[in-house]
Amino acid sequence: VSIKECSINDLITGVLSFSAAMLRKQKVKVQLHLDSSLPRILADTEKLKQVFVNIIVNAAEAMPAGGNLNIVTKQSDEMAIITLSDTGEGISEDEMIRIFDPFYTTKEAGTGLGLSISYQSIKLHGGIIEVNSVPNKGTTFIIELPVAPQSS
Ligand code: ADP
Ligand code: MG
Repeated sequence: VSIKECSINDLITGVLSFSAAMLRKQKVKVQLHLDSSLPRILADTEKLKQVFVNIIVNAAEAMPAGGNLNIVTKQSDEMAIITLSDTGEGISEDEMIRIFDPFYTTKEAGTGLGLSISYQSIKLHGGIIEVNSVPNKGTTFIIELPVAPQSS
């Protein structure tokens, strides 16, 4: 693995341009609110990009008739906070406790691996991943990652 300083905002905009055709086809409108003064983080960029891809693909799949995907970055103390909210089908309380389990899927052709791998990747980066959801309203994933030590 290679760990380097990187910009979360750049990672997210990169993943979004890579996913643009899929999002357009699925009628997903993206709102971006990126904190331009967000400090850099130390990361395995390929792993973190995969986390954002997994969450964005899940969001699109939860909105088969289209919807909104709202992505916000901000700083809180020494953590960078990334929230990704969709206006999709949501997750019931019963499902909620299982979504990070390997092979847990509610999809016909799902692998159930996206979120379990994402959970491990965020943990490897010293961060946390949480989810809030309201059935038939939408789902929000919250990721917190430590910012890189500031050189002054
Ligand atoms: P897969 O996408 O292959 O099913 P994941 O690990 O990515 O596997 O997700 C596991 C399960 O979590 C999904 O099958 C789905 O039930 C639920 N899920 C994940 N993200 C969302 C979301 N944004 N909205 C609703 N349900 C979700
Ligand atoms: Mg998935």
